[in-house]
Amino acid sequence: MNFGVNSARENEAMTRSISDSAHDGNLANQWASVRAKLQQEVGDVEYRTWLKQVALGGLNGDELLLMLPTRFLRDWVSKEYGALIVAIWQAENPAIRGVEIRAQPSRGTAPNLAEPVMPAANGHAAPSLNGRAEFSLESRAPRTEQRADLPPPLDQRFTFDTFVVGKPNEFAYACARRVAESPAIQGFNPLFLYGGVGLGKTHLMHAIAWELSSRSRGNKAVTVAYMSAEKFMYRFINALRNQSTLEFKNELRSVDVLMIDDLQFLIGKDNTQEEFFHTFNALVDAGKQIVISADKSPSDLSGLEDRLRTRLGCGMVADLHATTYELRISILEAKANRAGVEVPAKVMEFLAHKITSNIRELEGALNRLVAHANLFDRQVTLETAHEVLHDVLRAFDRRITIQEIQKRVAEHWNIRIAEMSSARRSRNIARPRQVAMYLAKQLTSKSLPDIGRHFGDRDHTTVMHAVARVTALMTTDAAFAEDVELLRRMLES
Ligand code: ADP
Ligand code: MG
Repeated sequence: MNFGVNSARENEAMTRSISDSAHDGNLANQWASVRAKLQQEVGDVEYRTWLKQVALGGLNGDELLLMLPTRFLRDWVSKEYGALIVAIWQAENPAIRGVEIRAQPSRGTAPNLAEPVMPAANGHAAPSLNGRAEFSLESRAPRTEQRADLPPPLDQRFTFDTFVVGKPNEFAYACARRVAESPAIQGFNPLFLYGGVGLGKTHLMHAIAWELSSRSRGNKAVTVAYMSAEKFMYRFINALRNQSTLEFKNELRSVDVLMIDDLQFLIGKDNTQEEFFHTFNALVDAGKQIVISADKSPSDLSGLEDRLRTRLGCGMVADLHATTYELRISILEAKANRAGVEVPAKVMEFLAHKITSNIRELEGALNRLVAHANLFDRQVTLETAHEVLHDVLRAFDRRITIQEIQKRVAEHWNIRIAEMSSARRSRNIARPRQVAMYLAKQLTSKSLPDIGRHFGDRDHTTVMHAVARVTALMTTDAAFAEDVELLRRMLES
């Protein structure tokens, strides 16, 4: 989001030229002073909740660059505090003409919003609204404008039609369908969808919301509120700040279906959790439907209050499992088809073998291939796939070592890691060893002889046999296939 007008090219050039100049020290001092004033201006609560994570990115001509770890934060801070930040900077340094706020995940640290504390009756949150008026930019920085808005709440692409169903997600899909057909039906309230990142939780939630809104047009309208837990918190805090919590409560309690995405975000946010708990109870008691998603099952969401955890598990809990090879192929076929691009089966097989972590990454890889093919007006081939996805694939290879695989697999089946190289051939040892070889073939770029060497100097034909054996077994034994996919998922995460 940009509060000034510079072309991207200019931006880049200037950031480069200035970021390593001697102005940096100066800039840091100014930033420290601006931060202090900001904190004074908006009060502790808001500062800690929204502004503390803003990092100085550098100066870009006469435009300042600030960084935040998520797009959500960027949008919110730009909208609510952009003008104020510019005004305070200008007071500090009149040469500043605008501020650009970018989303850039800080490496290694997960974005972690401070828990808002309930402001005391006379909480310092309130004065900021007046304070902001004083800093109105109209006179000071006429170029300032708000360009991007919060993204629309529902993604058009996320419907039941576009959701590809396979073994790992068929149960969650069926539950979602059921709830979309008859919300608040006995046994499905709340519907709790969980699974790792990029496996389709948000997609299913949006699909439910679309279905409800399209079907309710003729009949009595069904009101649906969908929001991320992060958004829930932001709206709650905003209500506190504007002293409109009653409106907030009433609004939420008047919907027929409430959907909260990524509930794990509320861990450690006790006040917001408390508010959510009351909303939850009020809605369920009134016979309304709740749909929740999270990255773990209710019982594994440690850090949530026990009473909330218990209630979350009371309806239907459905897991989106790690993808299987078959599902990945079906998804690639569906997406290529939709995009109207011909992708050879060999390329899809290659992608489905290599990109196993989640559907988002798989989709990303396919999109990149398709974009490349369009741009250069070329066919998608195995060669272009290697070329275009070179970096992605290398990243996958680099992450996983045979030692790690052996360790994980041994732990999983509770055998000693030394058995990976031992000569013992009893089934309970040999099978895990074969799985480890299989995973080594799938997840690393090591050759068969190389892999054999890591397993007590076995011959490459032994490795080949192991790969074939595991592949065959996975098609006939679902529990075994699940074990192997689980291991793969753990190794890749
Ligand atoms: P999550 O919320 O679990 O992190 P998303 O729902 O955002 O994951 O899914 C990530 C991407 O993968 C989205 O673009 C989504 O459309 C796509 N996707 C996930 N599951 C499926 C599926 N079963 N069929 C088609 N696309 C899917
Ligand atoms: Mg999601």
